Amino acid sequence: MTVKKEIYVTVDSALETILASVFLVDGENIPLLKACGRILYEDVQSDVNVPPCDNSAMDGFAVRAESTTGATENTPRHFMLRGEIQAGGYSNTIPVAKETAIRIMTGAPIPPGANAVIPVENTEEDTNRGVISVFMELREYDNIRFAGEDIKVNQKVLNKGIRLSSADIGILAALNRRNISVYKKPRVAIISTGDEVAEIGEEIRFGQIRNSNAYTLLAEIEKYNGTPVYLGIARDSIKQTRDIMLKALENEIVITTGGVSKGKYDFVKEVLTDLGVDLLYDSIQMKPGKPMIFGKKNRTLVFGLPGNPVSTMISFIEFVRPAMLAMSGASKLSKPALNAIIDSEIRKKPGRREFLRGLFSIKNGIPHVLSTGSQGSGILRSMSIANCLIILPEDSSGCQVGDTVSIQLINHEEVD
Ligand code: AMP
Ligand code: MG
Repeated sequence: MTVKKEIYVTVDSALETILASVFLVDGENIPLLKACGRILYEDVQSDVNVPPCDNSAMDGFAVRAESTTGATENTPRHFMLRGEIQAGGYSNTIPVAKETAIRIMTGAPIPPGANAVIPVENTEEDTNRGVISVFMELREYDNIRFAGEDIKVNQKVLNKGIRLSSADIGILAALNRRNISVYKKPRVAIISTGDEVAEIGEEIRFGQIRNSNAYTLLAEIEKYNGTPVYLGIARDSIKQTRDIMLKALENEIVITTGGVSKGKYDFVKEVLTDLGVDLLYDSIQMKPGKPMIFGKKNRTLVFGLPGNPVSTMISFIEFVRPAMLAMSGASKLSKPALNAIIDSEIRKKPGRREFLRGLFSIKNGIPHVLSTGSQGSGILRSMSIANCLIILPEDSSGCQVGDTVSIQLINHEEVD
C-alpha cells in the first residue's frame, strides 16, 4: 500500500481546493413551514402586487385632502359622513366628493375619489348630525398604503441561494406559496476513531475519554442543514476503520476525527488511500488543526479532522462548514470578520495562521476582544466560552494589549 508523502498547504489554498471540489446537491420541494433556515433553490418572482390595492394605514376617514386646507384645533373643517368600509373590502361604495368622508378601517381599500385618510384621533364625530370635524390639514396620499408598495407584480423578491429567514417565509406566504424548492440536505457521515474513546453511557476504562467530537459535529451538521449519519467509533484497527469507511463513502461528505497524526495507530490516511480516495492534502499551515486530510472520491468529500476537540471544531468551522454551505447552494459562505482592539497579550511564533478563542464585546462603540485564556487544543471549554476566533496571520509574532487584530464572529450568520 502506498501512502503519498505529506502535502502541506496554506489555509487559503486548503479552502480553495475544497470549494473547487464541491458538487451541488439537488433541490426538493417542501412545505413552507419546514423551510426556515434552508437554502432557496429557485428565484422567486411575484405574480401579484402586495398589498393588492391602495388601502388605509390608519383607522379614520377617507377624504379629499384639499378639503382639509386650513384645518386646525381651533378651526376645524367639517365633512358629511357618507358610509363605512371595513378591512376586507367593499362590494360597492359611493365615491368620496369634496367635504364628504367615509369611515375606513386599517387595511381597507381606499374608496374612489378619496386621496387621504384622516386618523380618527384627529377628528370628532357628531353622530346625530352625521358630521365629522377634522382638526388637522392633510397632504395628498397621507396615511395611504399603495398597491405594490411592498412587492410589485413581476418583481424578483428572493434570490436562489439565500438562507430563508422568517421574514422570507412570510413573503412566500404573502405570495400564496404553500411549498417551496430548497436544496436538499447533504448527508454527512461521522466516524470517530481511537481505542481511548468511549461512547456516552458506555462503561469507561482507565485512560479512556468520552466521545465529545462526534456530538459537537452532529450539532454543527444539524446547524448547517446537513443530515448527519453517525457511524460510531472505529477502533485503532485498519480493518475496522476500513469497513466503516466503506459505508461512510456512500454519503456526500465523510468526516473522521482523530487518527490523522503521526502516531503508530493513526490509520485514516492509509485506509483512505487503500479505498481509492484521492488525497489532496494532509497538513495545513494553521494552529490548531495542522494535521487535516482532505480528499475526494467521485462526488464524496472526505475530511480527516484532527482528534483534539478544539482542533476538530475549528477545522469544521473553517473548512467543512463552507463546504456544506457551498454544496447546498448557499451564496454566503464567510463568517463575519472585523477588526478589534485586543485586551490580552498573545505570544506567537511566525509560521502558521493561529485561531485563538476570543470574547468579543463593544466598549464605547469600539469592538474589543479578550483571549479566553488557556488555548490548548484539548480545552473544549475555551470553545464553549468563546464567541469569536482571533486570527493571527502566518507572519505575526504575537500581539500586545491595544493592538488591532482580526476576529471572526463564529455565532453569527454568514455574509458575502
Ligand atoms: P489522535 O489524533 O487520534 O491521536 O487524537 C488526538 C487527541 O484527540 C487525543 O488526545 C484523543 O484522545 C483526542 N480525541 C480523539 N478522538 C476524540 C473524540 N472523539 N472525542 C474527544 N477527544 C478525542
Ligand atoms: Mg487516535
